[in-house]
Amino acid sequence: MRKKNVVLQQVTVEDYAAEGKALGRTEGKVVFISGAVPGDVVDVQLSKNKKDWAEGKAIGFHSYSKDRVQPFCEHFGVCGGCKWQMLPYEKQLQYKQNEVAQNLRRLGKIALPEIMPILGCDTIARYRNKLEFTFSNRRYLLPSEMNGAETSAQSSGLGFHVPRLFDKVIDINTCHLMAEPTNSIKNTIRQFAFDNNYPFYDIRNHTGWLRTLVLRICTTGEVMVNLCIAYEDGPAIKKLFDHLLQQVPAITTLLYTINPKKNDSIYDLQPQVYYGKGYALENLEDFQFKISPKSFFQTNTRQGEKLYKVTRDFAELNGHETVYDLYCGTGSIGIFVSRLAKKIIGVELIEEAIDDAKQNAALNNIAHAHFFAGDVIDVCNDAFFSLHGRPDVIITDPPRAGMHEKLVKKIIDMAAPTVVYVSCNPATQARDLQLLDEKYMVTKVQPVDMFPQTHHIENVVQLKLRKMSDV
Ligand code: SAH
Repeated sequence: MRKKNVVLQQVTVEDYAAEGKALGRTEGKVVFISGAVPGDVVDVQLSKNKKDWAEGKAIGFHSYSKDRVQPFCEHFGVCGGCKWQMLPYEKQLQYKQNEVAQNLRRLGKIALPEIMPILGCDTIARYRNKLEFTFSNRRYLLPSEMNGAETSAQSSGLGFHVPRLFDKVIDINTCHLMAEPTNSIKNTIRQFAFDNNYPFYDIRNHTGWLRTLVLRICTTGEVMVNLCIAYEDGPAIKKLFDHLLQQVPAITTLLYTINPKKNDSIYDLQPQVYYGKGYALENLEDFQFKISPKSFFQTNTRQGEKLYKVTRDFAELNGHETVYDLYCGTGSIGIFVSRLAKKIIGVELIEEAIDDAKQNAALNNIAHAHFFAGDVIDVCNDAFFSLHGRPDVIITDPPRAGMHEKLVKKIIDMAAPTVVYVSCNPATQARDLQLLDEKYMVTKVQPVDMFPQTHHIENVVQLKLRKMSDV
């Protein structure tokens, strides 16, 4: 018989585990626990219960770890955004450093140099340059509201999805992930919508008008706002946007996107410019990047610059190299390293990102960077490499799933003297490094923290082609 609602009592949390969880041991099994840190003693409500392991969340605390600090956000614990606010930043960094080492050692099983100390952020709040808020006609009610102790007239909300509840959002008053005017824009729109009875979207029944709000704030001072709505309503947009521009004059570009689809993705839709030039400009060092409402850009600008500097250092360029920038997005790494290279060849799946990459190269007067759209495993074939030249350096920055095995084999075939592997998932990076070990040795490892208060890790690895005598 399956037992529901199993709660393990008084589990001592011993260590960190992957994906931001912690672990303890009880009744002969390992228990992966969310919402706890080593040193806590907790009751755990299980969501999975296998023979030798279990998984669940901390629902009661017998004692707290001495490592804990007071979270600074009123929404901590419900919002899925900053799950590690209860850990001091040095502890977060220590964990990330260990996680990189463990992944590369245990999963990669390859010879490693000493791992360099993780590059932490100077700013551990308001570090993001982009946030997306969701409108919902069914906001998440806190337990205190549900038992009637505290009630609010509003059942709608504007905020972030509650983890694992697709149809609920937590109504956010102040988010500390991005600088102002983030909260004033969000709260001005929310109040105006309440006052004017603008309907918030219902994701179950696909009714309502206001869907998502995407904000971007650049270090150049530019502020871009894109409001996604379910259908055209010119007068309602005008009323809302004129009010918003008056209340928040810092906005430099204001757009809206009509999304009649069932999902929230806007990649196949055309944003309409209401005010401003329709995009934002961001700087990394003295390079300029044009960011359109659909472009990807590193979400932590200052730390992105550090990440790219490490990548450029690891590439060890002297002006004569042909450099391939695989998974290049909007071409930002290729452009960033371009002054030290003879030629840059970028490859990326999303066609619009390649359009941006070409425009970004032109914006920075770079004529020796060329960008190609397509799947890396289709584009990077022998004909492509013979057309554009043998790579001296390959920079690769794949998504969380890591590289396709076919691409890893191609990289081994091409035998570029240097490979720089930028990864947002050290587990898949370790798997790929093990395959590359056939011809490459890892010569440098530099973790970089892009996302304080979360468990997400970025790691840069330099690989050198083994000399015949090393093989
Ligand atoms: N290097 C860029 C983007 C890295 S994010 C930067 O620093 O900004 C990873 C990129 O890989 C995304 O832009 C994604 O669209 C792209 N991508 C994912 N799968 C791909 C594939 N199979 N072939 C080519 N590009 C792919």
